[in-house]
Amino acid sequence: MRFHGGLLLLTGALLLPASATRAQESTDGHAEAWLKAHLESIQRALAARPGERVDARYDLGRVDLQLTPSLSTASLAGVATLCVRSLQDGLADLDFDLHDNLAVSAVDGALSFSHGGNVLHCVLPAPLALGAETCLTVHYAGDPASTGFGSYQLALHAGVPIVSTLSEPNGAPSWWPTKDDPSDKADSADVRITVPLGQVATSNGRLLSADTTGALVTWHWRERHPIATYLVCMSVTNYQLISDEYTALDGSPMPVDHYIWPEDHADALIDFNVTVPMIGFYATTFGEYPFVDEKYGHSEFTWGGAMEHQCNTSYGSTLLRGDHAYDYIVAHELAHQWFGDKVTCAAWEDIWLNEGFATYSEALWMEHLGGHAALVQHMTGRCYVTDPSGPIYDPPSTFNSNTVYRKGAWLLHMLRGQVGDSAFFALMNGWTAGPFAYGSAHVADFTAHAAQYTPRDLTGLWNGYLFGLNRPSYRTDWRSRSVGGLPVTELRVQQIQAEAPFDLWLPWRINVGTLRSEWVRNRLRLQGHVVVTGTAPSAASVDPDDWLLETHATGNLSGLLRHLALRVQAPDGSFPGAGGLRARCGTSPGGGAWVDGLAEGVVALELGELAPDWSAGDSLWIEVESAGGMAGRLAFGLAPSSADWQDLGLRQLQALAPPQLTISLQSGGVLLEWTAQPGASAYRVEAAGTPWSGDWLPVGETVELSLALPAGGDERRCLRVVALY
Ligand SMILES: [Zn+2]
Repeated sequence: MRFHGGLLLLTGALLLPASATRAQESTDGHAEAWLKAHLESIQRALAARPGERVDARYDLGRVDLQLTPSLSTASLAGVATLCVRSLQDGLADLDFDLHDNLAVSAVDGALSFSHGGNVLHCVLPAPLALGAETCLTVHYAGDPASTGFGSYQLALHAGVPIVSTLSEPNGAPSWWPTKDDPSDKADSADVRITVPLGQVATSNGRLLSADTTGALVTWHWRERHPIATYLVCMSVTNYQLISDEYTALDGSPMPVDHYIWPEDHADALIDFNVTVPMIGFYATTFGEYPFVDEKYGHSEFTWGGAMEHQCNTSYGSTLLRGDHAYDYIVAHELAHQWFGDKVTCAAWEDIWLNEGFATYSEALWMEHLGGHAALVQHMTGRCYVTDPSGPIYDPPSTFNSNTVYRKGAWLLHMLRGQVGDSAFFALMNGWTAGPFAYGSAHVADFTAHAAQYTPRDLTGLWNGYLFGLNRPSYRTDWRSRSVGGLPVTELRVQQIQAEAPFDLWLPWRINVGTLRSEWVRNRLRLQGHVVVTGTAPSAASVDPDDWLLETHATGNLSGLLRHLALRVQAPDGSFPGAGGLRARCGTSPGGGAWVDGLAEGVVALELGELAPDWSAGDSLWIEVESAGGMAGRLAFGLAPSSADWQDLGLRQLQALAPPQLTISLQSGGVLLEWTAQPGASAYRVEAAGTPWSGDWLPVGETVELSLALPAGGDERRCLRVVALY
């Protein structure tokens, strides 16, 4: 659904429970995956939350609607056949959702029924076993209540009546009986609409027939794929048909039919001529159009926006101007066929899976036409987030255009930035083709899916934006430095928003004659990042290409960081490259987590996190290992007040073998002598498990250690010699 114009302040109606999903996948692998998702979905449904009323004891199957709408009184007569499968043993009765405005005269296949409180309660002739099916036919008539965005409308255009429907989110029961739950799609839907001769009726799927009986014509549409109840539609007026054709990726033709009011025919010819190229673009981007064995197209209606009815988008007449002004809405509704219709939000708190995805798809179409600049223009223009507050998941208002649509689009854009184009488009393809295809999914299903496509931890992205309330506000600073004679760039970031620090990969652009992009993982309130540039840069800027929804300003962050860097060299004079080196730092030997080295033998360590309780006079221990089997250990004391930046210079790695030692046992102790390592100024010796607390010893001195060796035993004690540089 896409609104035209300003902020939408309507609130979605009551939330419905998850229940069962269904997919029409025929292969065994897909069937197994589907079954798993199906069972999980049912389990979620059984844990219904307070206030939910949808009957989760059965699974909605095939639906057949015979509808006779009045074009003068807004009344409707219907015969609805609903097939159901029991999800429990001994299902003796069941409830359909049906608004009280409609009067039920009979329910074929039920022993008895009662109707009130917008629930049609049916008692079955005999209890259904688990998995058993039955079909009930409900005969009903009345004046449908128009709920929500206009679930059932009789209006006029150019003096001609038009009946149309828009059921999202909970309007379907205002005009047909159903189990109104987005997690439980109908297996298929036949919609037969009987209208006066001369009127055209449209619905989902393909047109099977238009049979005339006297002065009436019955338009029979069939949607063979699973369809969420809110996507079932009906439109009736004096439509003219504009026929187009999409050539599928396998070369087969698919009809693209637009049903247009005669007075807007010329405008629609222009505005809808982008539809076929858009289908082709999304098919190559997200996988083939989901209903390629049926059709796509539009039916013009009176609402001031558009709605992604499956295979048949309802499109507001005010959007047809013959100038392509609303191509982004054409794109949005089309993209919903993948995101919303093929994979449907399982509950309304998961609405991001529909609206955020369709809104970002608009931007992708713009990028397709105009490259990255057009993408950024759309994200910072039409997708501009006026208010970053509010979680995207389970938003306070289901169709909040700021939070769900625009911030929701940004979340996908940021996901793309975090994982890269290749992984992003692979995961989007995988999403529409995976176990939730033609079924329903929760937000957690998507985050679990995305995790399979990247080694990067996305938890910070989801926690920050999907479930979090705001966006990060960065204060940034940078400085050119030298580590061991090598120019590097230190990027400093402070997160100043009130909320907890965001954990994101943060893009920088650094001008070192050429422009370089660097992504650094920023997750602390105050953090420095060292990037090996090899040249002193002239400028550095954060997120210049708008890959993140954030605000940033520059500031002076010197003196705030506990941050150091060292550079190490192998004995042969070479420098380990990125990935060939790691280091850790702690207040005791073996402390701290390993940090991967950068290029040219540079290692940067964030003391603020590695040694949070570190205080003046404390020693820090740094251990360095290279993939080539070289290792080194440094120990030094550093006062916090001088800890803004420490360049530990160039250090040479040692072989893993200990320094050359002469050890002799003497009465009451062990005598050690050792050979100096290049650059070392002092040593100290530790016995394993009992760190020595004595003073640093100048090179060349000997030390006598008291080691309590068991009498007569041959126990070995490990001694370490630590060099001070
Ligand atoms: Zn939408």
